[in-house]
Amino acid sequence: MVRLRARLARSQSTLGKGLLELLSRDRLDDDTWDEIEETLITADVGVAPTQAMVEELRTKVKVLGSRTPAEVRGLLKEQLLTQIGADLDRTLHVKPHGERPAVVLVVGVNGTGKTTTTGKLARSLIGDGKKVVLGAADTFRAAAADQLQTWGDRVGAEVVRGPEGGDPASVAFDAVAKGIEDKVDVVIVDTAGRLHTKTGLMDELGKVKRVIEKKATVDEVLLVLDATTGQNGMRQARVFAEVVDVTGITLTKLDGTAKGGIIISVQRELGVPVKLVGLGEGPDDLAPFDPEVFVDALLG
Ligand code: GDP
Repeated sequence: MVRLRARLARSQSTLGKGLLELLSRDRLDDDTWDEIEETLITADVGVAPTQAMVEELRTKVKVLGSRTPAEVRGLLKEQLLTQIGADLDRTLHVKPHGERPAVVLVVGVNGTGKTTTTGKLARSLIGDGKKVVLGAADTFRAAAADQLQTWGDRVGAEVVRGPEGGDPASVAFDAVAKGIEDKVDVVIVDTAGRLHTKTGLMDELGKVKRVIEKKATVDEVLLVLDATTGQNGMRQARVFAEVVDVTGITLTKLDGTAKGGIIISVQRELGVPVKLVGLGEGPDDLAPFDPEVFVDALLG
């Protein structure tokens, strides 16, 4: 996994720099507070967290009076960490249960980076000395299983796939069965992300989960969200969170946006912690999400 800080330093500066500059002004009048609010909203922080942050900052600044750059930075850091939920449990549950592997289900809209995340996660687990099987449960797109197969070959994980147009639940079941047979540590199941109808999605993911649970426990349901899609992506993520019990979020393509604020909105809205972040297309471009490092990178 890459180092979060080095990678974020380039792309995350807009939000942090803008806020630092605005808050450092001698006089903070209503117009400046409006600008601060706008900066946060433009960075996808979301309306409610923005208002909460601005209110807190106004109170603190009033108490403080004149501010040194270090004090401004300290204030912002504290506020951002509060909003990001610095003490949320972000443990990725990938410990096998005796003879049974841990199972990670990867869900989300097509194009968000599910397959890539599945491959990168496998790479990272294998790097930690674990054995991994991948399940290509997106049977609807011809290229999806091939793409996962490429990842499997690249990172050294067996890929279980089914016939095109076959039953995704059956592939998931076979992948878990293979994982048990081969005594692997983790089975990662890549699912289809068709947002056809909510009931359709619910039936499909529900069935995949139920079928896996005949053989093992689903330890993580990772929702993949593309950070560059902002509030539109949030709407789609909400649908997934309604149909399946999401346990963690992977926010992809953070390398392609300066709007890091989406982390705050998504966690607030879905009540689920961001556990991993995608920082590029390569096999090592995945990192555990560390709020402290993230905020430091944001503030430069
Ligand atoms: P899926 O349809 O959800 O399985 O999405 P894919 O895994 O096929 O990814 C869609 C595109 O996004 C591909 O071109 C990936 O290389 C790219 N991608 C995925 N994750 C990241 C990331 O963290 N950063 C960047 N820059 N690109 C990514």
